[in-house]
Amino acid sequence: MSVTVTFVGSGDAFGAGGRFQTCFMVDAPGFRYVIDFGATSMVALQKLGIDHTTIDAVVLTHIHGDHCGGLPFLLMDSMLGAKRTKPLIIAGPRDTQVRIGEICEALMPGMHVMSPKFHLSYVEMPVMEDSKIGPLTVTPYPAAHTGETNPTSLRTEIDGKVVSYTGDSAWTKHMPSVARDADLFICECYFYGKPIKFHMNYPDIVEHRDDLTPKRMILTHFSREMIPHKDEVPEETAHDGLVVNL
Ligand SMILES: [Zn+2]
Ligand SMILES: [Zn+2]
Repeated sequence: MSVTVTFVGSGDAFGAGGRFQTCFMVDAPGFRYVIDFGATSMVALQKLGIDHTTIDAVVLTHIHGDHCGGLPFLLMDSMLGAKRTKPLIIAGPRDTQVRIGEICEALMPGMHVMSPKFHLSYVEMPVMEDSKIGPLTVTPYPAAHTGETNPTSLRTEIDGKVVSYTGDSAWTKHMPSVARDADLFICECYFYGKPIKFHMNYPDIVEHRDDLTPKRMILTHFSREMIPHKDEVPEETAHDGLVVNL
């Protein structure tokens, strides 16, 4: 069995084009993880017929709602309706555990009194170091995005395959390392013509095309301004439900 990536959500924070927020599911033999879990990700998984209790780990790039805001719902359903038994690992940047706790309490007040019957663990991943999450290795790089979100770009490796993602980030000197030889490099492309601060936009991708050397690159996180141009660009573009075999 090879490694498969499913684009559960390829949209921006605001539902542009009717797309779901960021969530990429990676299936390797015996281990299933998702990169980011936006506020809409529970609905997006259901639309694809995917049972969230089959996910072994959630790996977060940063603490923005369109990348982690679905976790209160995943955790609540895991404890109540879905009666999860499988252990779950939530990995992310520094302060992930306390920040996810705050988000849970803000969206589902009173949730703190519930304790999961399954084993729930948090891993806070230092930047520029390899973190082991089961059979998965994740290397976060500093990203240039809203500082309060502890933003990172990620390289993930499992079963000899590398899936990497810029996260939400303006261009950084680390992007060539994030992309290098990746079996799949998922690259933010927020705006087409109008560069937006703290994000990668199409002009950045054109400017740095020769610096990015993955085996395959797919653009994601499109704004309403980018969507009308997505079929004009030569690069491969994501859509919700896209499945890529590596
Ligand atoms: Zn975002
Ligand atoms: Zn963000």
